[in-house]
Amino acid sequence: MTADRTTRRAFLGGALAAGPSWAWAAPAGRKIVTVAGRRVRVIDIHGHCAVPEVEPVVAGTPLAQKVAASNVFGPARIAEMDRRGIDLQVLTVNVYWWYAADQALAERIVAVHDQGLAGLIAAYPGRLAALSSVALQFPELAARQLEHAVRGLGFRGASIGGHVKGESPTSARYDPFWAKCQELDVPVFMHPDNAVSLVRDGALAGGPNLDNIVGNPLETSVFLARMIFDGVLDRFPRLKICAAHGGGFFPSYLGRFEAACAYRPGAVCRNSKPPSAYLKDQILVDSMVFSEEGIRHLVAEMGAGQVVYGSDLPFPWPDTIDTIANARAFTPAQKTAMLGGNLARLLKLPA
Ligand SMILES: [Zn+2]
Repeated sequence: MTADRTTRRAFLGGALAAGPSWAWAAPAGRKIVTVAGRRVRVIDIHGHCAVPEVEPVVAGTPLAQKVAASNVFGPARIAEMDRRGIDLQVLTVNVYWWYAADQALAERIVAVHDQGLAGLIAAYPGRLAALSSVALQFPELAARQLEHAVRGLGFRGASIGGHVKGESPTSARYDPFWAKCQELDVPVFMHPDNAVSLVRDGALAGGPNLDNIVGNPLETSVFLARMIFDGVLDRFPRLKICAAHGGGFFPSYLGRFEAACAYRPGAVCRNSKPPSAYLKDQILVDSMVFSEEGIRHLVAEMGAGQVVYGSDLPFPWPDTIDTIANARAFTPAQKTAMLGGNLARLLKLPA
């Protein structure tokens, strides 16, 4: 079971419906976000979406499933974007359940997903962009899928989980995919899928959704560490990775990652630079750590150019637009960059 599915079920059960930042009721209007008296464009890297047209494609296979209605994009999401002040949301389909599909099925699933996302972009002009959630278990296929999505459908990049059925996507087997990302000059949004294969079975059961609160940042931290230490970011020096949920524990635990290669006996490090250098260049993170102090720390370690706004809609979490816009710690230029400027440049979005 994934964290997001658990969250969604809790929400549908009404347990979280009373939160002040969560109201599907008709918004009074579109919120305009300003910084130092000037309107800023708010761009959201972290919008979930499911495509119901996939249901007949997987019917009768081991991956048969129903798409949750709350995850299907529609007018309610636009209303929530308006209420929060999100001008443009980047949609991705995840979690990545089709990583278990064979090649023929994976091809059909991703094609249907991408077609669905393309239809939404057309239906809500100027409000949406998309990343293709490719079939990473087949790296050459994933590269072809990404090329089609970017060149054929106008998508802005790829979205992947932190592992492929427990395997880190950092061995040479995955290089065709990373090479295509670099060739197309598009970023990869990494969203945790489920840390279940990283820890003892059941270790994160119980408590307040620890598979999400601990497991998701754990998966993200392992992913970023492997991308650095296994040398992927050196093999593809123009590759850009954006990690969900503030990059997991990685930026807040940077000192130990930084020391690992120098101090640990037998360390295997294929990185040419210290981890901190990649955080200032090839790695970006979203703002989903919620507190001003948490975001301030990300900016201190990475620079304001590496932090971008993320909402995680439709899942109920605190919003960080006002946290960033009202923060004492940042200059107006830093706020404008984090709320939308960084993503406009990264995703090459038209003005
Ligand atoms: Zn999410």
